[in-house]
Amino acid sequence: MLFSPLYSGSSGNCTFIEAGNARLLVDAGLTGTRITSALQALRVAPETLNAILITHEHTDHIRAAGVLSRRYNIPIYANAACFAAMEPMIGGVSPQCTRVFETGRDFYIGDVNVTPFLIPHDAAEPVGYTFRYQKYSAGVLTDIGHMDEHLYDAVDRCDILLLEANHDIDMLKAGRYPYPLKQRILSRHGHLSNDDSGLALCRLYARGLRSCVLGHLSAENNNETVAMATVANTLHAQGIHDLRLAMAHRDRPCGVFHLE
Ligand SMILES: [Zn+2]
Ligand SMILES: [Zn+2]
Repeated sequence: MLFSPLYSGSSGNCTFIEAGNARLLVDAGLTGTRITSALQALRVAPETLNAILITHEHTDHIRAAGVLSRRYNIPIYANAACFAAMEPMIGGVSPQCTRVFETGRDFYIGDVNVTPFLIPHDAAEPVGYTFRYQKYSAGVLTDIGHMDEHLYDAVDRCDILLLEANHDIDMLKAGRYPYPLKQRILSRHGHLSNDDSGLALCRLYARGLRSCVLGHLSAENNNETVAMATVANTLHAQGIHDLRLAMAHRDRPCGVFHLE
C-alpha cells in the first residue's frame, strides 16, 4: 500500500492512496491543475484513478472534484447528505460516476476495503476513512472538533494515519480571526488543536499506532514548526519516543509512505 498526502491544510486537501489494483484520492480540494501535476510527479495518470472519496462538502475538500470526475470519468464516492450539500458547488456528476455509500458501512473499491465513519465537524454528515489491503491499513482523520471513543476505535488498527493538527490555541486566540470564527474552530465541531492532536496520539500509541502524518494546519493560526514541536513534546512528556511523525504540507506533496 502506498500512502501520499499530496496537499493538506485549510487551503486545500488531497491524499493519494494506491493498493492492489486500486488508485484512490481522498478529497480534491485544490484546482484540477495542481492535483494532476502532483499525480504526474508520482507517474499517476488521472484517468487511471478509480475513485475520489469525499470527506465533506467544505471547499477545501471538494474544489476540483466535479471537474476531475467529468474530465477523466472518475467516480465520486460520498454519502447522500454530502452529495446533496456539495452538488451546487461541484456541478453535475454523471450517474455512472455517482457512488453513494452509507456512513459506517464498509465497501470495496477493487482490492481495497474502505470504511467511512462519522466525524464531529460542522458539515453535512462528514466522514473520515480507513483503507485496508492485505494486512495493511491507512487512515485519514482531519476536520474533527474533538476525539471521541468511536474515532479511536475507527482508526486504531491503522499502520499510518493522517491526523489533523489544525491550530495552536494561543495563536488562534491572539490572532485576527473574528470572534465567531474563533469560537467555531475551537468548538466540538470545529478543528483539532495541536495539543489535542498530541493527546490523541498518546492514546493511539497505546493502541498500537506507530506512524502519523500531521496535517490540515491552519495557515493563520499554526505553522509546521509549532505543530511538530507541540505534538512531539506531548508524546515525549508521556515517555513516547518511537512514534514516527511526519508533516503534510499545504503547498506540496509530503512524499510517499510505503506499507509493505
Ligand atoms: Zn478542511
Ligand atoms: Zn471542514
